[in-house]
Amino acid sequence: MTDEPIRPAIVTVDDDPGVSRAIARDLRRQYGENHRIVRAESGEAALEALRQIKLRGGQVAVLLADYRMPGMNGIEFLEHAMDIFKYAKRVLLTAYADTDAAIRAINVVDLDYYLLKPWDPPEEKLYPVIDELLAAWRRTEHKAVPETKVVGHRWSARSTQIREFLARNQVPYRWYSTDEAEGQALLAAANTGDQLVPVVITPDGEVLVQPDDHELAGKVGLATTPAQEFYDLIVIGGGPAGLGSAVYGASEGLRTVLVEKTATGGQAGQSSRIENYLGFPDGVSGAQLTTRARAQAAKFGAEVLTTCEATDLEINGSARTVKLSDGTAIAGHTVILATGVAYRQLPASGCAELQGCGVYYGSALTQAEDCRDQDVYIVGGANSAGQAGVYLSRYAKSVTLLVRAPSLAKSMSFYLIQQIGAIENIDVRTCTEVAQVHGAEYLESLTLRDMNTGTTETVSTSRLFIFIGAAPLTGWLDGVVARDEHGFVLAGPDLGGDPDGWPLDRMPYHLETNVPGVFVAGDVRSDSAKRVASAVGEGAMAVMLVHRYLEKI
Ligand SMILES: Cc1cc2nc3c(=O)[nH]c(=O)nc-3n(C[C@H](O)[C@H](O)[C@H](O)COP(=O)(O)OP(=O)(O)OC[C@H]3O[C@@H](n4cnc5c(N)ncnc54)[C@H](O)[C@@H]3O)c2cc1C
Repeated sequence: MTDEPIRPAIVTVDDDPGVSRAIARDLRRQYGENHRIVRAESGEAALEALRQIKLRGGQVAVLLADYRMPGMNGIEFLEHAMDIFKYAKRVLLTAYADTDAAIRAINVVDLDYYLLKPWDPPEEKLYPVIDELLAAWRRTEHKAVPETKVVGHRWSARSTQIREFLARNQVPYRWYSTDEAEGQALLAAANTGDQLVPVVITPDGEVLVQPDDHELAGKVGLATTPAQEFYDLIVIGGGPAGLGSAVYGASEGLRTVLVEKTATGGQAGQSSRIENYLGFPDGVSGAQLTTRARAQAAKFGAEVLTTCEATDLEINGSARTVKLSDGTAIAGHTVILATGVAYRQLPASGCAELQGCGVYYGSALTQAEDCRDQDVYIVGGANSAGQAGVYLSRYAKSVTLLVRAPSLAKSMSFYLIQQIGAIENIDVRTCTEVAQVHGAEYLESLTLRDMNTGTTETVSTSRLFIFIGAAPLTGWLDGVVARDEHGFVLAGPDLGGDPDGWPLDRMPYHLETNVPGVFVAGDVRSDSAKRVASAVGEGAMAVMLVHRYLEKI
């Protein structure tokens, strides 16, 4: 992006080309160095220019409009312009005969000044006025926003998903609610109504109406299609295990591609603070760890594709082909399955209907700001629920952890139980489950059940976060890769002495599945440790075994 849209604009509109050029010339001479001077010859053309500036994240400091213009007169133009740039200072250019109209406009469009034509000499009649208006404008809220903008409704599930998608992929964005004036101004600039949100505006000013993840990824600079036809290593899943595999694979010279369904970072990417990862005595946020790992993978030349879901695995001789949800496929010599686990759904009635509208799975980070001064409930008794509780307690009025077990001792790390105990606005309710979730368009209340007595209580809340464990989504490997009774992938010694369909005269390597050249790492592996460090370690170890496999084919 150039710095053009960042320089605030002075926009002038006059239907007489001669006058229009003259005023633009005078403005450029005095203000051109620090401002963009934009000239239009009709109200419509000027409004279109304003929309483009708005969508690109630019600012308009001053608007000068001729009063007498055919079609849209200057007052009408300034009225529309206010919807897009509320803080721009407004000047009407009038002839002496139109002074009355200009005075009336002071009330209609909150006019800042009317300037009588001609304005010669500008040093006396034009520049002092503009100087004063620019100084006044600088004192208002007018920050340029060059990054991606998302306009949506806080109770729209898709708006929530898009915010989370961008956040988890480390794409900087600014959120605007449709309730805010600036949100409405952006919708006006995009020419879309409230009904079509969420609307995403890219840094180049492109408007995406209710985009899906794949379209969005492509427009905000995330790679979505492979650059090569064949790879040494295809890594499926972009959590710690997958990123670990990609870093080690690419750094050791393997042509490596990583395929991620949603966003790199996996579960770890959603953690507010990982305290037990080696080398970070003060803890590290999942987002930080992910950003660094992703940059490291890219530095070594690994391709990282997002919004690409693996849906099938085919074995054709020594080639392994991974089919993707968009109908394309990627082929390679070896595959590492690093698909982790996905959140288990809370079975309480009414819960599924309100997902994204007050009910969230694991999205404590992106929702934290909206929890300010709210009573927030968290379901779950493991570390992920505890971390979310600690994090949200900085924003919310109160945080209540709902735990089915009689204590946290068995499910949560000692250090976290201590932390929670020391935070005044966190309450832990043990032996409690969510029986029902209520709300028409968004979450309004919960019915909680005491598991000892069976008594119920209804509590008002608009925020429920759920962290109740996770399951591997490995159904797509049916008939190809062997798994245990819970769907976790079996590897090495866990396959038993005589693995089903194993074709080679050696036994599978430690992290190798029942298909030669297809390895597994991280949480998706049967009996894995479910920790960031072990996932990263297994990712690295799987690459070592990939080398051993490649030496022999
Ligand atoms: C909130 C939270 C806090 C945590 N805190 C800690 C902590 O403090 N310390 C600790 O050690 N551990 C912690 N954990 C656990 C830790 O994050 C996991 O053990 C670790 O992330 C596992 O890494 P993984 O790469 O195996 O799987 P995941 O992190 O689950 O990543 C798997 C990735 O694969 C992708 N994927 C799945 N299916 C497909 C497909 N078909 N095609 C393409 N991509 C696919 C997913 O979208 C996901 O990005 C926490 C977990 C959570 C949820």
